[in-house]
Amino acid sequence: MNPIASCPGCARSLGRFEADGRFRATCFNCRLKVEGFWGRLSHWHSKGEPLLYLHPQLPKLFRRRYEFRIATPGRELKLLKFTTPGLVDQVPARPGDRIGILYSGSADHLEKLMAIQNYSLGQTFRPSAAIPSTAHLWKVRGGMSAALGISALIGGVNLGIITAAAVAISLLSRIDSAAELSSPPLRRDRPDEVRLMAELKLVQQKADLQYHSEVLKQEIQEHRELIKRFQTLRSKMMAHNASLYAPRVSRLEGAIQLLKQRINHTQQLIEGYQQTTQMLDIELEAASLADRLPNADDFTRQVLKRVEELRAIEAEQQAAWQRVQSRSDFYRLVQGT
Ligand SMILES: [Zn+2]
Repeated sequence: MNPIASCPGCARSLGRFEADGRFRATCFNCRLKVEGFWGRLSHWHSKGEPLLYLHPQLPKLFRRRYEFRIATPGRELKLLKFTTPGLVDQVPARPGDRIGILYSGSADHLEKLMAIQNYSLGQTFRPSAAIPSTAHLWKVRGGMSAALGISALIGGVNLGIITAAAVAISLLSRIDSAAELSSPPLRRDRPDEVRLMAELKLVQQKADLQYHSEVLKQEIQEHRELIKRFQTLRSKMMAHNASLYAPRVSRLEGAIQLLKQRINHTQQLIEGYQQTTQMLDIELEAASLADRLPNADDFTRQVLKRVEELRAIEAEQQAAWQRVQSRSDFYRLVQGT
């Protein structure tokens, strides 16, 4: 079941994440607008690094750099990079953990990282101040630099002061934490990302099968209507003069027979597609329920093989049906009604 998001501002419950893992809400208590997503941590990396090291005798500054790769239930891979001041690991996590990320901005655009909830460990990381994205940071810094430049031009401020301020701004941007959210391409050398690729392939196959089933159902409907028109015509001919129309009645009967056969084959194909769609559903559900993302297994390959077989049968039947349709007597009948 999808976890529940808590407001990064006042810690009240904001409700569950959506089925695809996304989240959007405005806290009714503190009016904070929150975007977010949750998923399983497929890769995690954290490292402390010196930030400012001037002299062995002087105090040193450190920051910790984090990298989270999270696969959402909607089968998107998200990469979150951010830094926190100090060496201490403030966001413990293990691959496979259920992680929720809450931020301000829009669905795919993080402006400020507000909270990381680790549902597997029952821990929440809330930075004392929301961590801005690099883009957001540069927007603010750019504004500050421009303001400095303009005030220097207008007020004739000493160039030395401007240089000192510029150095302070650049230093500040190094000391500051920054967060970045992206959707990285999937890598073929990572088993969990290969698995995600396999799942996305299953999702694509499922959509394809559903589309083909709809097209085939439409064709069956059209053929049933054609049979009705042929049968009406046949009855009229029989009622008028059975012996006069005998050759044409026999052609009509032949065509009705062919159409019925085609409907029968198409029906079987649709059933095959529906069974395979159910198998794909089970595969996808099994993958989303697994504690850790397993490697692409034999069963998935078998389902995909079945899809290929069915598509080959469809192509074969389609070719046979085109041969029937191109026969001049059948073509004349269809055109003439
Ligand atoms: Zn709130």
